[in-house]
Amino acid sequence: MSLRQALELLALVLFSLFAHAQPLSTDELPGDPLSREWMYFIESGQPLSPYDAKAAFEQGRFAPHGKKIPSLGIGAPPLWLALTLQNPSDDDVQLIFELANAWQDDVALYLFDQKDGIQRWYGGDLTDSPRGSRFMQQPLQLPKGNHLLLLRVAGPDPRLIPVYLTSPQEAQQRNHIELLSYGFLYGGLFALLGYNFILFLGIGRRSYFYYSLFLFSFILLNLSYTGHGQFWFWPGLSHWRQWSHPMLMTLYCVSGLMFALRFLGIDKLRPHLSYIVLGLAVVMMAAQGVAIATDDRELGLIFAFDFVYIFTLLMPLLGMLAWSHGLPTAKLFLLASLSTMVGSCTTGLAVEGYINFNQWTYRAAEIGMFIDAMLLALALAAQFRQSEQERVIAQQLAATDPLTGIANRRAFNEQLQQLWHLDSQRRCRALIMIDIDRFKSINDTLGHEVGDKVLTDIARVIRYSIRNRDQCGRWGGEEFVVLLSSASEEEAGTIAERIRHNIESLCFPAPANKLKVTASLGVCLDEGHSRHEDILRRADEAMYQAKEAGGNRVKLA
Ligand code: GH3
Ligand code: MG
Ligand code: MG
Repeated sequence: MSLRQALELLALVLFSLFAHAQPLSTDELPGDPLSREWMYFIESGQPLSPYDAKAAFEQGRFAPHGKKIPSLGIGAPPLWLALTLQNPSDDDVQLIFELANAWQDDVALYLFDQKDGIQRWYGGDLTDSPRGSRFMQQPLQLPKGNHLLLLRVAGPDPRLIPVYLTSPQEAQQRNHIELLSYGFLYGGLFALLGYNFILFLGIGRRSYFYYSLFLFSFILLNLSYTGHGQFWFWPGLSHWRQWSHPMLMTLYCVSGLMFALRFLGIDKLRPHLSYIVLGLAVVMMAAQGVAIATDDRELGLIFAFDFVYIFTLLMPLLGMLAWSHGLPTAKLFLLASLSTMVGSCTTGLAVEGYINFNQWTYRAAEIGMFIDAMLLALALAAQFRQSEQERVIAQQLAATDPLTGIANRRAFNEQLQQLWHLDSQRRCRALIMIDIDRFKSINDTLGHEVGDKVLTDIARVIRYSIRNRDQCGRWGGEEFVVLLSSASEEEAGTIAERIRHNIESLCFPAPANKLKVTASLGVCLDEGHSRHEDILRRADEAMYQAKEAGGNRVKLA
């Protein structure tokens, strides 16, 4: 044995003696959960009676524990905790014992007085006794002198035992703050859930559905493990109470992964990975099914906790993968999953005693998840905005002629149909067909590029020769079309003439500086309830008449 080990052992022995010998005075109770004040004993074999446990304590078989909060893993043997309390005053002291953990199956609390008199209380979520609180809460009356408090906790769930021993006022104040903070948490989460579920109903995007399911399972899980669920919603359902944690943890991970695959587009980015993740979800659900079928809750909890560990690591990894492939909203997703990860680690470290244990560090997992949920809602909104922008751009691209930037034939036709029906009461609409004269020869002599430049300039000229309320489009290669809304025959003729004149006046840079471009225009007015197809055909005929008459002129149909 090295010197250091010997010193450590000595310190442990001294600490144990000290801890054993020194009762906790009711004047100096900590506001935080009891931590190193406790001595612990792990029961093996036959269950001990409270008298056996007291004897074991007095024989020094209880040891001080090194953690901030007494905790053991899943399926641990029953744990005994002991604490000597001393009331130094002459008056009785009223205290509230509160076990701030709603998932322990089987809890027994014993209080011995100086004359070996014993009081006992039972709790835990296997017992169905009506309770005024979501936790086991017990008022204790301590007369002057020393008392021994013994607590026995059994059952397969993770053995985490935060116990508050405070005055009734402090307990009330603490419960009040907890109620407020949970109201805030559930209010925020339900608002996000409702809003995103309505969006799913309205838009039908599956990522909104998975997000809502993810949030819903987290809320249920939180209601379940904080005891709010059994206190408010399912007080009688004892079988559900026993299985709700592993089942809800599994649902939480499955819905979170489904959301991630959908939101990050992993199915398109890495289809194989997507199948592996889905496979994992199916295997974990099947494993949970087996545990439920064999009624092995310890196994169910082990599967559920392992799934949560894998999930907590997998989520940021999926986010990083999508980010490295340039998905802009992956950054928010990554931040969100890291927030849950940091929160869960903080809670874990606080429970293990590595960092200070208080309300904030203990409930960091909830805070992390709350931030996660908000960031994911933001990410969903950002993704929606981005896809809307892409859709609008795609629509615009599909509707415009890429060379001239004015409406293409399909878009012009759609507009024409719409306006024609909207405007059916109003007469005096006119269509103008425009065809460039001998355009082919421009291409042949000066090249296609010059031809393109001429087409772009003519489109520009047409656009500024018409009024704001008129529409124009490229009908074909070197043919354009104009719709004049509410124009008399005279006005239509004037506008067509203006277009012709402006085209004729166009000048081009070298090598086309000598080029004179002209166009032939056919105008047709709708004076009755004609179909737009007929008006178009007649404008086209008039345009051909103009061309046959030598071009560079306007003909009225
Ligand atoms: P007309 O006076 O009878 O109208 O004769 P035209 O040469 O103007 O008409 P035609 O229909 O014979 O030829 C049209 C030409 O327009 C043929 C085609 O190569 C050219 N063209 C069609 N689209 C484009 C384009 O986008 N860019 C260029 N540079 N030329 C085009
Ligand atoms: Mg032509
Ligand atoms: Mg032509």
